[in-house]
Order: sequence, then C-alpha cells, then structure tokens
Amino acid sequence: MLSIDPIQTFITYIALVVIIMARYVVIAGAMHWALWLRDENKVKARRLTKMVPTRKVIRHEIKLSLISSFIYAAPGAILLEIWKAGGTAIYSGPISGFEGWAYLLVSAGLYLFAHDTYFYWTHRVMHHPRFYRATHAGHHRSKQPTPWASFSFDPLEALISAWFLPALALFIPIHVGAVLVLLTIMTMNAVFNHAGWEIYPKRWIEGWFGKVMITASHHNLHHTKFKGNYGLYFRFWDKVMGTDKGLETGT
Ligand SMILES: [Zn+2]
Ligand SMILES: [Zn+2]
Repeated sequence: MLSIDPIQTFITYIALVVIIMARYVVIAGAMHWALWLRDENKVKARRLTKMVPTRKVIRHEIKLSLISSFIYAAPGAILLEIWKAGGTAIYSGPISGFEGWAYLLVSAGLYLFAHDTYFYWTHRVMHHPRFYRATHAGHHRSKQPTPWASFSFDPLEALISAWFLPALALFIPIHVGAVLVLLTIMTMNAVFNHAGWEIYPKRWIEGWFGKVMITASHHNLHHTKFKGNYGLYFRFWDKVMGTDKGLETGT
C-alpha cells in the first residue's frame, strides 16, 4: 500500500512554492527588463500594440501570479511524494535504443497535445458569461499583457489547470528528463506569449512555425480583442473549431 508522509509533503510543498515563485520572478523580471524597460531601439523584437501597460495592471499580474504559485505547488508536491514512494508513471535512468528515444519523443508530444487540448476547452468554458467572472476575469485585466501576466490566473482558474499534468504523470509513462524539458517549455511559452512583443523572427511567424505554433502574435490578440485564439501551444484546436482569428501584426 502506497503511503506518503504528510509532514514531508508539506515541506516539499513549501519548497515548491519558493521554487515556482523564484522561477517566475527571475524569468518574467528578465523579460520585462529586456523588452519593456530598455531603450526601444535596442530591443530586437516587434512591439505588438501601442498600448502601454499601467503600473496598476502589472501589480495585479504579479499579485495573482504569486497567489497561483501556492495553488500550482500543491498537486506538484503530492506528485513528487508519490513519485518518491514509487507510485507514478515517471521513470528515470539511461534511455537506450530506437524504441527508448522514439517513446521519449512520442510521450513528450502527447503531453503537450493533451495539455493544449485541456487548456483550449477549459479556456472556452471559462469565457462563457456564466463562469467568466469567477474564473478568468483576472487574467483578462491585462489588455496588453506583460511577461508578468504569464502566471496571473484567478485562484479558481489556477485550480482548474494545476492538477492536470500531475494527474497525467500518474498514468502515462514519461521520463524525468522529459518532465524537466516540458516544464521549461511551459514556462517559456507562457512568458513569450504574454511578452507583448514578438521575439521570433518575422520569417518564422510567416512560415510553418507561425502557422502551427502559438506565439505572442497569436495570444496577444486574445487579450486585445478578447474573442478567439484560445489555444496554448498549437493553433490546431482554434483552426478545427473556427476560433482562430489570425495574428496581431504589430506596430
Ligand atoms: Zn481568455
Ligand atoms: Zn493570456
């Protein structure tokens, strides 16, 4: 019978809160400085709108993001403790042979697609007038988001999304290295998409990358126009469901 120690789980939880907050402050802070606080001529990225985010909105983005850290850390800590007790589908050790590497790629792709699918549909439900105010209005205080908005969710939205990937890791085998890569992709994707600037070169955005992947040009439009462009990593579901509104072209 699998058992986890509640005191150890609490210690892991506190450690994770600190790690998640530190990761957020360092990465969002660095991007905010690089894009918004330097002389515009030095920035090698394209500004997406002429809107200037107010201090008040940035303070709100930071406040919600710090609260979200407490919520995201809970399923993460429980998963870590179950993993230590040998009860998850997370595996480690050297990867060998074609099958080992092929499965690594397939499982990582599957996690991204599952996360994208879950995000797209819960996001659409949260935009329904009945649920919007309680779940998603906080995130949309940012008409022109900054990197600080990358984690700014109402507590209810954070609760809806935080458990999903840890739950997957109980059932779908994934290498611990792939987990770390996925966490990095998740963080960078969230920060880049809320940056307010397009950091990828124009030819990438106009090529296959911009047609398949979600970047700031796509998600910024979700914040400025409010309707459409609901996806997280891929434009797939928006295109299938007819909610893809194209890209913000920049100033
Ligand atoms: Zn939204
Ligand atoms: Zn957003």
